[in-house]
Amino acid sequence: MSRLYDLQNFCRGEREWLLETIETLVRLESPTTDKRAVDRCGAELAARLDAIGGRVTTLPRIERGDHLRVEFDHAVDPADGGRHARHERTRQILLLGHFDTVWPVGQLDRMPLARIDGRLHGPGVFDMKAGIAIGMLASRALFETGAPPAHRLVMLWTSDEEIGSATSRTAIEDEARRSDVVFVLEPSLPGGALKTARKGCGSYEVIVRGIAAHAGIEPEKGASAVQELAHQILRINALQDLGRGVSVNVVQMSGGLRSNVIPDQARAVVDVRASDAAAAAEVEAAFLELSPIDPRTHVEARGGFDRPPLERTDKVVTLFQQARAVARQLGQDLAEGATGGGSDGNFTAALGVPTLDGLGALGDGAHALHEHVIIDALPDRAALVAGLIGTLGERHT
Ligand SMILES: [Zn+2]
Repeated sequence: MSRLYDLQNFCRGEREWLLETIETLVRLESPTTDKRAVDRCGAELAARLDAIGGRVTTLPRIERGDHLRVEFDHAVDPADGGRHARHERTRQILLLGHFDTVWPVGQLDRMPLARIDGRLHGPGVFDMKAGIAIGMLASRALFETGAPPAHRLVMLWTSDEEIGSATSRTAIEDEARRSDVVFVLEPSLPGGALKTARKGCGSYEVIVRGIAAHAGIEPEKGASAVQELAHQILRINALQDLGRGVSVNVVQMSGGLRSNVIPDQARAVVDVRASDAAAAAEVEAAFLELSPIDPRTHVEARGGFDRPPLERTDKVVTLFQQARAVARQLGQDLAEGATGGGSDGNFTAALGVPTLDGLGALGDGAHALHEHVIIDALPDRAALVAGLIGTLGERHT
């Protein structure tokens, strides 16, 4: 109990450090598709992680920004000036998040970094540079108050979450398999609620090929790909079952070349979401089974679920209850909720590793112009993360 207060006091005392860290990261704009910009932000983040005692390993990538793996498996001994006395730990906790954002370089001019009415505004502040800083302060609190966690603490900060994590997924999954639990520092739900369920998500491209013919001279020889796609879209829409958490939506379509030609090509892009693995498998099977109504056409669906669902399993519930207990001792009321959006937590949860998501900042406006975090809630959020890490350690030792 008193240890929790130590952590909370430490975090509250480091409020300016926390804000300065967030502001520095936000100033280094880092759109996923701009490797140079993302790497600049990553280099600053790596330097700061090193400064707080993390052993940083860069995971180099060619086409995307480099990812950062950071390990804290030592106790900082103030007696020898902060030199690291290493104690190998076998059990591991993973803190997970990303430092890429959806905003282009220059967005800072349109969304200036500003502290207004208790809110810190800026591109990427909520999703999720504040979350990274919260994780860093939680780690500092544990090590600098002389009560390092029983677990090895590993952080993975990646650079391509906003476009599907193609170059980080393997690293995330490898690290998760080595971990007892995963805490994802993505933004919280309104009021600070954690995300104990996320839909799995993916997309399909449906490609229809027909037979071109002159629309006036010999229309009977044509097989319209556009007409066939229209039939297919009705079938695809029928897969939606919101009661079961399944959403299936055609989000783009195109077809045809000229005004007097029966179109021989058409395509559609479909966004798919599902709350559980069984429903996701049903959707995948349905797309595989799409077959032409006009036998002269050809229908093909390419794609699938990029992120499996984060399901609210018993393990997730148990972990959430532990978090709520820690929060209660810190005077916080912690709720939970579900979201249709995916994160890298979907990957770790699907491996069966207990995952709590949404442990990052309170605020609003992810991917929106009013993006901000609530300043007063930041230090206590770090205390919650630190307390949770510390409490899990007690349980296992
Ligand atoms: Zn995010």
